[in-house]
Amino acid sequence: MNGDRMEKKPNPFDMVVKQIDIIAKKLKLDPSMVEKLKTPRRIIIVSVPIRMDDGRIKVFTGYRIQHDMTRGPYKGGIRYHPSVDLDEVKALAALMTLKAAVVDIPYGGAKGGVACNPKEMSKKELERLTRRYTAMILDEIGPYKDVPAPDVYTDEQTMAWIMDTYSEFKGYLVPEVVTGKPIEVGGSEGRREATGRGVAICAREGAEHLGIDMKDLGVAVQGFGKVGQAAAKSLHQMGCKIIAVSDSKGGIYNPDGIDLDAVLEHKKKTGQLRGFKGAKEITNEELLELECDILVPAALENQITEANAPRIKARMIVEGANGPSTPGAREILNKRGIFVVPDILANAGGVIVSYFEWIQNLHREHWSEEEVNRRLGEKLVSAFKNVLEVRKEHAVDMATAAYMLGVKRIVDAAEKLGLFP
Ligand code: NAD
Repeated sequence: MNGDRMEKKPNPFDMVVKQIDIIAKKLKLDPSMVEKLKTPRRIIIVSVPIRMDDGRIKVFTGYRIQHDMTRGPYKGGIRYHPSVDLDEVKALAALMTLKAAVVDIPYGGAKGGVACNPKEMSKKELERLTRRYTAMILDEIGPYKDVPAPDVYTDEQTMAWIMDTYSEFKGYLVPEVVTGKPIEVGGSEGRREATGRGVAICAREGAEHLGIDMKDLGVAVQGFGKVGQAAAKSLHQMGCKIIAVSDSKGGIYNPDGIDLDAVLEHKKKTGQLRGFKGAKEITNEELLELECDILVPAALENQITEANAPRIKARMIVEGANGPSTPGAREILNKRGIFVVPDILANAGGVIVSYFEWIQNLHREHWSEEEVNRRLGEKLVSAFKNVLEVRKEHAVDMATAAYMLGVKRIVDAAEKLGLFP
């Protein structure tokens, strides 16, 4: 179960639990009120056998962790990546619970994943993997139970396969079982860009709070996938200058600004950013430490650690990825006066528009992109303000304030529900 790659990394779920304990103390909560949040409600681990194109049968480990459903159905993405393991998925599921509470949408938190390397698999193999994984968790997902969405190396196509498999078993079409689907089968306008657009909205709110004009602010984006690309595009539209971007193979840097359309074209043609003319090649580590105004980590977790946090030069960090900074790193950044918009607020645009997609599906409606974006802006700006208020009231940093707001909302709901039996 991938245990061999974990030794040196801090356990991501332990980090979340530690944070919840700190927050409970700050909120002066009875510790037993957060006990439930410190263990996922259900852990599903499945061995997913599929036939590879060469005729061999290969078995992959798949996970679906349902963390908490106090405020609504479980909700969270599915990740296909070689590093997927139980502790990572547990941590990501807990972050989903908190995120939905921070932006006040009626969902609990879940996460799924399959430990695999999608870059080495054909489309047919990925389809077989997705369908078999779906079949194996079928009884535990559903529109009012648990609604998956895309995450790292999964996309609209993956969601369409899940929806189709689920619908085949049910005998009728169930678009509301997943979000992040293609528009043709019930997907929402603006969902693909929602997380990145939300990152840009949070950067704008952060800049306003700090009294900085967005015009010509230099932005570095780590990770040029769904979130990174959309964040870069939206920030550019808001007047910022994108000076660096990177993917898993490395990054490119131009202090005068990078032509995003040309980069996208290059990435589409070559599959990587390296080799792009008109920018200098840099490593992912160098990107994080660049002289810039806004840093957007939008790749994987644990990128900003106690080791590199002292060398980060950005004025503001907007966490597009989940868990990109360790708690120790956040402490250093706060002490150094760097304004950090934490993941559970900064990347919540995705789950907000997923919620809109789910509502549209349940009502068999289709909203315009303007409508979706307007509602996204309203939700996120209001959540940002709520977090700022908690920050001020308790004299804490943004991440602590967001955790406090999320935990408080979940505990308040749990108190009202009481405990069965
Ligand atoms: P994606 O698969 O579309 O893109 C991931 C990007 O990260 C790719 O450009 C890849 O090359 C890059 N990458 C992978 N390993 C890297 C490494 N070691 N160093 C630098 N770059 C690396 O995934 P995504 O959906 O954009 O997700 C990115 C992050 O955002 C994840 O942490 C995910 O959990 C989080 N997130 C995604 C959504 C969403 O709606 N997709 C919502 C909230 C949070």
